[in-house]
Amino acid sequence: MNVLLIGSGAREHALAWKLAQSPMLGKLFAAPGNPGIARHAQLVDIDPADHRGTVDFCLKNSVELIVIGPEAPLVDGLADNLRTMGFGVFGPNRIPAQLEGSKGFTKDLCARHGIPTARYVRASDKLAAEAALADFALPVVIKADGLAAGKGVIIAETAEEAQAALDIMFEGGFGAAGAEVVIEQFLTGEEASFFAITDGTTALPFGSAQDHKRVGDGDTGPNTGGMGAYSPASILTPELEERVMAEIIRPTVRAMAENGTPYSGVLYAGLMLTADGPSLIEYNVRFGDPECQVLMARLEGDLLELMRATARGELAEIDAPRFSAETALTIVMAARGYPGTAEKGGRIANIGAAETLGATVFQAGTAAREDELVASGGRVLSVTAKGKDVREAQAKAYEAAGLIDFATGFYRRDIGWREVERLKAAS
Ligand code: AMP
Repeated sequence: MNVLLIGSGAREHALAWKLAQSPMLGKLFAAPGNPGIARHAQLVDIDPADHRGTVDFCLKNSVELIVIGPEAPLVDGLADNLRTMGFGVFGPNRIPAQLEGSKGFTKDLCARHGIPTARYVRASDKLAAEAALADFALPVVIKADGLAAGKGVIIAETAEEAQAALDIMFEGGFGAAGAEVVIEQFLTGEEASFFAITDGTTALPFGSAQDHKRVGDGDTGPNTGGMGAYSPASILTPELEERVMAEIIRPTVRAMAENGTPYSGVLYAGLMLTADGPSLIEYNVRFGDPECQVLMARLEGDLLELMRATARGELAEIDAPRFSAETALTIVMAARGYPGTAEKGGRIANIGAAETLGATVFQAGTAAREDELVASGGRVLSVTAKGKDVREAQAKAYEAAGLIDFATGFYRRDIGWREVERLKAAS
């Protein structure tokens, strides 16, 4: 079976690495891919924004399944156009992708179906938003409705900060994403990520993870796309996972199906584990990055078989996904300056040495220059290792990262700290 993978991050490198292990795989193509993905796939120069060009490529190359990594092409309706042409697609259509594309859409769905989430108000003009603020205690959370590359959320500690957040959003500071806002109650608890795959009818748990969003050690400094992650997140006990499936995931899948817009693909729930139980903070309609790297490191069995069954609506007919009992941990190596302007062109060497230790190094912002690998983006590598517990995985990943020669790069030194603390407390 020939497969086209859309995307160019470490998430897609992890997917390519896992897909390449499938005995069912014919040719793997990736668009646009990166030098790491090129180890497993043929890179092709098609633009996923060009739906017609993507369809033509798939027809010419007998592609049967298209795996869409990032959210933008999903929200843009690439999956719809491919499905219309008869292709199998891993990833939701445009309307179900609104679960990530519009925070208001998701909040309304939660309200209609009794799915636990923070109390909220939607507002599409500043006066209404200002009036709504009066009903919320501080701190209050103000979110741009649309896709804002993870930057559209402001937690306002004071009334002045809340006003400033509204000023920025309604003055176009977040572009079209901020034309409407969601104001919501601040929740306290620990955050965790939970994944499910669904074919529109059947939903199966697909593991848990926790990530580190802040750039600096001790969870300090500005937010990033994610500086590291580990899986599983032991705070999501089997009992809590079952609650998330019963109270959040299955009602969502059912609601989308009843609406005539079934959701197919991976559904990633960002959760707050509050004193009252899990509450949905947000949905993403694709794998997280770096969470995907640790899920793929733990996934046993055939990813392609799972993705094909998802695309065909046959999840009820195959074995549920199985994950290793080990912990996987990934450290993101970023280029100096990230999450601001990242330094490009820094030389990267010795990835092979890190892999000899048993780690897997997934590439994101890398480019091949002559015989060298250089940094070409903010997040550059995801150094991933497994161990019998988080301490072992952490030690292996840091040992491997330490062997990589990337003078203009940096990484956090404390990935996994919460889980390590938990382990210490339990022993
Ligand atoms: P989102 O893009 O909706 O996931 O929000 C980004 C981050 O903002 C989350 O990962 C949380 O850390 C924080 N956040 C969002 N909503 C809330 C909330 N209602 N209460 C507390 N923190 C929140």
